[in-house]
Amino acid sequence: MGLSPDGRVEQTDIYRELGVREVVNAAGTKTRIGGSLIREEALEAMNSAAEGFVELGDLQARASELIRDVTGAEAGYVTSGADAGLLLGAAAAIAGSDVQAMDRLPDTDGLADEIVMPRTHRTGYDHALRAAGATIVDVGTNDFHLGTGATNVEPWEIERAIGEETAAVGYVQKSYTQPDLETVVEIAHDHDVPVIVDAAAEVPPIDNLERFVETGADLVVFSGGKAIRGPQTTGIVAGRKDLIQSIALQHLDMHVAREAWDPPRELIDPDSVDGVPRQGIGRPMKVGKEELAGLIRALEVFVDLDYDALSAEWQRQAERAADALNAEDHLTATVSGGEGENVSPVTEVTLDETLSAVELVKALRDEDPRVYVGADGMGDNEIAINPMCLDDEELDYVVERIRDNL
Ligand SMILES: *Cc1c(COP(=O)(O)O)cnc(C)c1O
Repeated sequence: MGLSPDGRVEQTDIYRELGVREVVNAAGTKTRIGGSLIREEALEAMNSAAEGFVELGDLQARASELIRDVTGAEAGYVTSGADAGLLLGAAAAIAGSDVQAMDRLPDTDGLADEIVMPRTHRTGYDHALRAAGATIVDVGTNDFHLGTGATNVEPWEIERAIGEETAAVGYVQKSYTQPDLETVVEIAHDHDVPVIVDAAAEVPPIDNLERFVETGADLVVFSGGKAIRGPQTTGIVAGRKDLIQSIALQHLDMHVAREAWDPPRELIDPDSVDGVPRQGIGRPMKVGKEELAGLIRALEVFVDLDYDALSAEWQRQAERAADALNAEDHLTATVSGGEGENVSPVTEVTLDETLSAVELVKALRDEDPRVYVGADGMGDNEIAINPMCLDDEELDYVVERIRDNL
């Protein structure tokens, strides 16, 4: 979308042609409304990739090299999103290098298939773990949120849940998750069980690409389509070489005669597998050459970003929106976040009892173009403006639309 100098909205060609209302995104990198805008460099890479053929395994091997370099992991893989990475990570933890097990998933009869997770790490996204055939065993309580001073889960509760049937420990990385990753890794490794970390939205800071691998996680997943701004349908898995090999074996098309089987050696050692796998559980989540090329380029650009400058820019925008809105009656706008829980600072707008956040959110979404603001605080009569997906003109437009709808 763009805005003409007189503030008129100029919609993106394709959405106008299709007759679909566009969205002005003040809600941040939400998949439902398209995630983030893909980097120009990534888009160019995708266009170029569309002009020729390539062996997908070779391209995955090249991506693995880059992911290895930027995360410090032994290997990496590109999936069709962080959630697909969780599914494939679970499949790798359950099947390992056993071709027969790969062929049977999600049927796990006779296989260790339990994934132990602190209960407060459960999210809707972990359906992906179950889709691979895993059974989630969640432990702990919600005590911390009762305000008793107790923690949600004690290390011994995780330890007690690990047994013969355990395939992995699942961990969702957020600044507030407990116990810390180091403690969980230590327990899991004492029992020879891998730890799979969902860090889908935990970059920037860019250092986080390395942090969880360094802490000892065996597989870490990141979204390619959030702040990295690669194609929407990409995710990154970084981790142990044997687990990444298992992911590749369950994702790439492999069905050729053994004598003709020539997988990329950087990812797959054919001698370590007892036969050529057929299409695995990951096959419905395929990643094309264009997405692979786009993700590789986006990640290269992302790791070279001046993150401090980007943060300062978001901070300036959030303050600009707060200042403009504070001139209005019946609301208070403040800037919060930017560290820890949120990747970028947001402008939080608290309405007084004469106004309704629910009505405001609905009215904004109903416009043409639709205006999406952060709506997680509607219960507290709050809306939020996230600057990550807005330029200055769009930010001003959002502020104006909020004003008009008060
Ligand atoms: C966004 C998100 C996902 C899903 O990521 P995709 O790349 O869209 O598949 C999974 N887990 C968490 C915590 C997320 O924030």
